[in-house]
Amino acid sequence: MNDKIKDERHKERQQRLKEKVDQRVANATKEKGLLLVITGNGKGKSTSGFGTVARAVGHGLTAHVVQFIKGSWECGERNLLESHGVNFSVMATGFTWDTQNKESDTAAAQIAWTDAKKLLNDDKTDVVLLDELTYMVTYGYIDLEDVITCINNRPKHQHVIITGRACHRKLIELADTVSEVQSIKHAFDNGIKAQAGIDW
Ligand code: ATP
Ligand code: MG
Repeated sequence: MNDKIKDERHKERQQRLKEKVDQRVANATKEKGLLLVITGNGKGKSTSGFGTVARAVGHGLTAHVVQFIKGSWECGERNLLESHGVNFSVMATGFTWDTQNKESDTAAAQIAWTDAKKLLNDDKTDVVLLDELTYMVTYGYIDLEDVITCINNRPKHQHVIITGRACHRKLIELADTVSEVQSIKHAFDNGIKAQAGIDW
């Protein structure tokens, strides 16, 4: 096959692809607040959630982050985004991986969830990131049906992002967009410690 024929075939293929993509773009006419779920065992769930918050803020939307796991580390995204008008509710006392006390963990989760519920009822908040919410549901610290009801009843334009491993099947069904981050390899497995700016 000479180069000219190859070029023409390539052009035809690209043209057909373009027509298909244009058709799909033309068909996508709805606009609504989305529920995004970012789950899986690989690294990149919270950073994706924060990246979406940054994207939204860049368009002038108002965003609020609720973090359902309190670590001992500070959070780089918080340092940055708070100075751009993003409010954070961080699970205060109680829950860390160290406590493993169901009563205090549940109490801490409930306080953060109360904040989240207010946001899910506030039509001035355009984007709500519920970082690591999945664990609270898995452990039964927050009631799944309550989460579903609040998400269903939120303002029509509001986007909600849920991150965390092992997301409950019902939340996956409810979501508009779900991504599963798969772990291929992680530096930690080779004895490399978590580092500021990359891991938190
Ligand atoms: P990130 O905040 O970097 O986007 P994540 O939200 O996907 O990560 P989490 O399960 O919330 O992952 O864990 C947060 C911390 O654990 C991060 O420091 C991250 O680098 C680390 N981590 C994530 N996935 C893995 C993995 N597969 N093995 C080891 N450590 C991991
Ligand atoms: Mg995370």
